[in-house]
Amino acid sequence: MTHAMPLYRNHVLLLSQSFFIKDNRAELLLHAHKYDFDILFFDEVSAFVEAVARDQGDNLYVIDLDALHNMQADMPDGRRTLMLGELLQRLPSDHSYVYLQSARQGSRFLLQQRLVDSNCLAYAEKPIANDVFVDKLFKLFVQKKRGDLVRMVVLGEVAGLDDAALLVRGIEVIRHADAQTLHLRVKELQPDLVLVSDGEYARTEAIVRVLQKNIEADPVREIMLLQCRPDAALTRRALADGFDTVLASCEPGLLEAQLVNRANKIRINKDLIGKDRATGLLNKVGLQKKAQDLIRRAAQEGCPLAFGIIDIDKFKTINDTWGHHFGDIVIKRLSLSLAAQLAECDLLSRFGGEEFVVVFWDCTLEQGRRRLDAMRQAFCAIPFEVGPGDLRHFSFSGGVAAYPDYRSENELFLRADAMLYVAKQGGRNQICVQEAALQRAGAH
Ligand code: GH3
Ligand code: MG
Ligand code: MG
Repeated sequence: MTHAMPLYRNHVLLLSQSFFIKDNRAELLLHAHKYDFDILFFDEVSAFVEAVARDQGDNLYVIDLDALHNMQADMPDGRRTLMLGELLQRLPSDHSYVYLQSARQGSRFLLQQRLVDSNCLAYAEKPIANDVFVDKLFKLFVQKKRGDLVRMVVLGEVAGLDDAALLVRGIEVIRHADAQTLHLRVKELQPDLVLVSDGEYARTEAIVRVLQKNIEADPVREIMLLQCRPDAALTRRALADGFDTVLASCEPGLLEAQLVNRANKIRINKDLIGKDRATGLLNKVGLQKKAQDLIRRAAQEGCPLAFGIIDIDKFKTINDTWGHHFGDIVIKRLSLSLAAQLAECDLLSRFGGEEFVVVFWDCTLEQGRRRLDAMRQAFCAIPFEVGPGDLRHFSFSGGVAAYPDYRSENELFLRADAMLYVAKQGGRNQICVQEAALQRAGAH
């Protein structure tokens, strides 16, 4: 609960010739802010070097290679061009950089090779549209982040798989011994990867169909066969049966490398699918998975959860009066205000247009009502300038339900949504809950 929280979560430090970005600056910023990051512009090498050196390393550093030409006062010997190598010597060597280059440079393979070998995180070719560029930078942030663990269920004996080494590289390994109950385990654990040994596949061929044909199966999940000996007929059958991938088990180190690459890919895909681009919050898909995980954890640890739904009041009027773009800004500011009031294990999702879901960890119904009400008051206090000197305040309504009174994500959602309806009916700008005791009394 801090007011010192920066407005934007991440920064891009961009070294570029001023004339390239001059006209783009405002539009680049606009796009970046939608994705919850800010861009700091540098047109001088020394200021850029200083800023990168001071940085914690969580941000992205973009170098427009054209900025290395036509240098003004930077060079000691009067030269006007700085070589990339010289610049890199002045920059921290443990960072990697995004290079912006001209298409002409990109067409020369040897130059390109030198570039990708020079602490290169990614490169982009100019000209590039502002929104496309910002979208790509956003993806790099997602990739850079050390994301969640990727969970893998392994069926059967897999020789030399080092669980501890995989855990260090972001994969949690869970062993399962029985092919007949694998689908139940997968349903329970919702792993991102399933690895089946060829021995198990040979014994229970239907196993992959049972997993894949479940209508609720996670489309991002990869079901992999581990094949010990080359056998084209078996590979063909496995792919036809529905395995996504057939991995060759050559030596343990290679298997590990293949698994790590797949896990990284899955982590990126999941993040892109599970997040709302405009606010950076979880979307409906992302929330569902995380909320189910949290409910499972609450059951194990025997602690309560409060599940709240928020809906901005009279949002159609806000849109109609001040325009859709202003409406977007209200949504954005609300998401930042809510995020600032979360505890570490809480979840926050932009569930739909102007609807948000919060899940408070280790929180009773009454505590949840109070926390959501504090959020309501904080949002009401934000002044929005709709015209010169014309400040307005807006509000939201909310409903809360709690685990274990309601046990599944779906039940919690329905109950909280019903309470939201009560709050709207009751005049808006309020939070409603229904005590479990009252409900039981009502049921009789
Ligand atoms: P109520 O107090 O009953 O919630 O009234 P309301 O006007 O907010 O009604 P409702 O929640 O049904 O309306 C939501 C409106 O929000 C409808 C839709 O046009 C608008 N909306 C949905 N998503 C977005 C968005 O991303 N940006 C903007 N600007 N408007 C959106
Ligand atoms: Mg609504
Ligand atoms: Mg509304």
